[in-house]
Amino acid sequence: MPQGALKHITILGSTGSIGTSTLDVVARHPDKFRIVALTANTQVDLLYKQCQQFRPAFAVMLDDAAAIRLRQLVRDAGIDTEILSGIAALEQVAVLPEVDTVMAAIVGAAGLRPTLAAARAGKKILLANKETLVMAGNVFMDAVRGSGAMLLPIDSEHNAIYQALPRGYDGNLAASGVRRILLTASGGPFRDLPLDALHNVTPDQACAHPNWVMGRKISVDSASMMNKGLEVIEAHWLFNADADHIQVVVHPQSVIHSLVEYVDGSVLAQLGNPDMRTPIAYGLAYPERIDAGVAPLDLFKVATMNFVAPDFERFPCLALAYQALRASGTAPALLNAANEVAVAAFLDGQISFLDISAVIGTVLDSLPVVAVESLDNVLGADAEARIAARQQIDRMKK
Ligand code: NAD
Ligand code: MG
Repeated sequence: MPQGALKHITILGSTGSIGTSTLDVVARHPDKFRIVALTANTQVDLLYKQCQQFRPAFAVMLDDAAAIRLRQLVRDAGIDTEILSGIAALEQVAVLPEVDTVMAAIVGAAGLRPTLAAARAGKKILLANKETLVMAGNVFMDAVRGSGAMLLPIDSEHNAIYQALPRGYDGNLAASGVRRILLTASGGPFRDLPLDALHNVTPDQACAHPNWVMGRKISVDSASMMNKGLEVIEAHWLFNADADHIQVVVHPQSVIHSLVEYVDGSVLAQLGNPDMRTPIAYGLAYPERIDAGVAPLDLFKVATMNFVAPDFERFPCLALAYQALRASGTAPALLNAANEVAVAAFLDGQISFLDISAVIGTVLDSLPVVAVESLDNVLGADAEARIAARQQIDRMKK
C-alpha cells in the first residue's frame, strides 16, 4: 500500500476498550482512515452509535437477536450499513477485499477464528487479541508468514518491544545483538495487599486497575498477573524468544512499557503515559507517526520509577504461564481456556480470586499436552480444558 493512501479498516470488537480507543484515534484523522466494518458481541446501542458516526459498509453482531434490533435501528435512521450476524460474518468482514487493515480487538478465544482469517488473507493485522497467539501461536505465525500479512503488536508491552527492536527485525534475537527482552508489569491492584487478604477480594476490586482502564477479563488477568503470563507467551511467538530470554520486571508506574537489552550493554525502552491510543496510533499509521490524542509524558511529574522482581508465590498464574510455555504444544491453549472459564466464574461470584490459579493448575496437571500440528489440536485442547475447568469449579462450589 503506498504511504499516505487512505487506509480501509475492519475493527473486530469495536465496542470494547481497545475498539473504542481505536475509533477515537480514527476520528482524529478522517483524511487517513475509513471504517469499512465494525463488530460486537451484544452491545446494540453502542454499535448503533458507532454506525451513525462512522457509516461503515458492514456491522456484525455475534448475537442474532441483537442483529435484528440493530438492523431495525439502522433502517429507521436511513443509515446505509449492512447488518450481519454470527461467527462466519466476523470472518467475512476480516477478509473483505476492500479492507487492508484489521484491528483484532475481540476478547478471549472468540477472537481466534476471525483474526486467523485476516492473517490468511494477508491483511495488515493490528493485534490486541493476545489470546490468539497464546492458543495458536505457531498456526497463526505460519499463516502470517504464508500470506505475507503484516503483524503489528498493539499490546503496549509488545508494541514497546517492537519499537525498541531493530526496524525489520527478522526473528533472530542473537543475530540482532539482543540479550533479553524485559517485559514490564504494573503488578496490578493487589501488588502490595497482605497475602491473606487475597482470599476475599471482590471482582470490582480486581477490576480497579491502578494505571489502565480496560475490559473486565483483562483487568482480572492483570490482578492475577496471568495477563503478564499470557504476554510472556505472546512475546515468545512475536519475537521468537524462548522463556529464558523474557524477563518480567514489575514497574508500578507503568511509564516504561517494556525494554530490549542488547549485548553491548545498551537497553532501549519505550516510555509514555499509560494510554492504549499510543500503540493503536502507532499501528494504524505505521510507519508514520500521528497524533493519538495522548497527553505528553511529564517526566517531572513521574519523578520516580521503581523496578522489582516478580513474586511467583503471590502470583502463581505467572508461574503457570511460564510452565505452559516451557511445556509448549497445546499447554498454552489449555492454560488460556482454563483461565477464561475461571475468570468468568470469579466475575460471576462462583469462586474466589485465589481459586483462579487453583483451577488452572488442576487443568494443566490433569490433561495431556499434544503437539500443535493444526488448528484442530488447539480447538480440541481448548474444549477439553473448558470442560475440566468447569468440573473443577463445580467441585469447589460444593
Ligand atoms: P472488552 O471486553 O472491553 O471488549 C471486547 C470486545 O469484543 C467487545 O467489542 C465485545 O463486543 C467483543 N466480544 C466479546 N465477546 C465476543 C464474542 N464471543 N464474539 C465476538 N465478539 C466478542 O475487551 P478489551 O479490554 O478491549 O480487550 C480486547 C483484547 O485486547 C483482549 O484480548 C485483551 O487482552 C487485549 N488488550 C486489551 C488492552 C486494554 O487496555 N483494554 C490492552 C492490551 C491488550
Ligand atoms: Mg499489555
